[in-house]
Amino acid sequence: MSSLATCQRYLPITLLLGLLFTGCSPEQTRYDTRFLAFGTLMDLTIVGVGSDLAAHAAQVLESDFAEMHRSWHAWDPGPLGYVNKMLKTGEQFSAPPAVLPLIRLGQTLSLSSEGLFNPAIGELIDAWGFHSNDPSGSRPPPTETIAHLVQQNPNMQDIEIDGLLLRGKNPALKLDFGAFGKGFGIDLAVTRLKEMGISNAIVNAGGDLRAIGRRETGEPWRIAIRHPDGDGILGSLEIAGDASVFTSGNYERQFTWEGKRYHHIIDPRSGYPAQGTRSVTVIHHDSTTADAAATALFVAGPDNWYRIARRMGIHYVLLISENGELQMNPEMQTRVKLVDEASWKIRLSPALNPEP
Ligand code: AMP
Ligand code: MG
Repeated sequence: MSSLATCQRYLPITLLLGLLFTGCSPEQTRYDTRFLAFGTLMDLTIVGVGSDLAAHAAQVLESDFAEMHRSWHAWDPGPLGYVNKMLKTGEQFSAPPAVLPLIRLGQTLSLSSEGLFNPAIGELIDAWGFHSNDPSGSRPPPTETIAHLVQQNPNMQDIEIDGLLLRGKNPALKLDFGAFGKGFGIDLAVTRLKEMGISNAIVNAGGDLRAIGRRETGEPWRIAIRHPDGDGILGSLEIAGDASVFTSGNYERQFTWEGKRYHHIIDPRSGYPAQGTRSVTVIHHDSTTADAAATALFVAGPDNWYRIARRMGIHYVLLISENGELQMNPEMQTRVKLVDEASWKIRLSPALNPEP
């Protein structure tokens, strides 16, 4: 029996009309599909529209993501490759339209993270071998290479923007959008869905996602947070409306050299993989900020994430430190349901930025 039929049997008509607009409404249709985007499987769920529109929307998103992947790939040829080549010359050049918005956003987000999120350190990422589809055979670069790149200090403010024209002011500049391109792409995808009249959906790239509206039952979406082991679930939370959940973890891309593991999130101040953090989960309205902030707070680590989160205007953070402590702000604690709460040593920070 449908939930509406159950309501009709037991409730007076006035109450039933009220419920039609709340919890006890008929189930909406749900459409699930999956495709490859940004090198990961993208899960798309759409609720409340016909299957033709949902299938069309999925096709549009899949081709949009393919184009974004081509435009922002850090080591295949394409618009970003061209920008990186030109930035090194120090000459002025026209910005490809696909790349300019990310440079602008990258400058703002980098500044508010005190440079811990720094998409201009592509040379360092390259030196560590993380510009490869399979970094497992890599080894650490020579210490002099790292020291030289850190000393050149490439950063987003070294890019001069004059309307549509760009100029690089540091020969060590190399852009890598790996820490926020996926977030920006998911924001564009959600804008596309909304333009098509879709207001209930999840765009999920391997656990990093943005959810809008509600589930087919009318209840909030239930979202899983990845465990810092890289496998399994740390906890879950609910989203009703519009929010993004992004996690940065040291399990994602890594290699082992002489018995020591090296992961892909680099501290721009040292040039080495950031120490002290296993994973950081951020909830934020837009995915671009959530993605950049998860990376920045990972680098900031257990002692400094709170300050950087405040500066970046983040409302919800959960960080697992290398020494096994689970740190979060009180607002996050009210939202997250941990799977195995008793196994964690939990430390609460003071309140963060209140949500508007
Ligand atoms: P994420 O998984 O979102 O934390 O992004 C990590 C990816 O961003 C890495 O694979 C690098 O390509 C790039 N990256 C590493 N360290 C940084 C950093 N400090 N700032 C910006 N991008 C970074
Ligand atoms: Mg990120």
